[in-house]
Amino acid sequence: MIKLKRSDYEKMLEHAKKEAPIEACGLIAGLINGEDKIIEKVYILTNTDHAEEHFTLDPKEQLAAIKDMRANGLEQLGNWHSHPVSPSRPSDEDKRLAYDSTASYMILSLMNDTPVLNSFHVENNEASKEELTIV
Ligand SMILES: [Zn+2]
Repeated sequence: MIKLKRSDYEKMLEHAKKEAPIEACGLIAGLINGEDKIIEKVYILTNTDHAEEHFTLDPKEQLAAIKDMRANGLEQLGNWHSHPVSPSRPSDEDKRLAYDSTASYMILSLMNDTPVLNSFHVENNEASKEELTIV
C-alpha cells in the first residue's frame, strides 16, 4: 500500500490546477516499510516540455531533489504527473517511458470536477493500479 499525506496531495493538486492545461510533474520520496511505501515528500518540478500531453522532468531540478532526498534519508519512490484532460491512467507514452518496475507512477486527473489520483506499477508495458491511501 502507498500512503500519501493529505497535505502533500493538496500540494500536488494545487500545482496541477495552476499549471493546467500544461501537465504538471514531480517526484515522490519516502520510506519503504515491508509492503508499504510511505510518501514523506512530494517534489514539484518543471515540465520542460511545457506540453499538454506529455512531460519531461527538468534534469537539474531532478538532481537537486535527489540530493535533498539523500540529505533527508529518503528514497525516491517514483514520480507523479497530471492529466489535465484525460483519465488517471498511463498513456501509451507513459508506459513506454516507465522503465523502472520498482517505481510508483502517480497520475492525477483533472478531467472531471472531482480530481482522481491513482498510482501504478508498470512492468513490460503493462500498468497495474497500486493500492493508495491518503491519510
Ligand atoms: Zn501521462
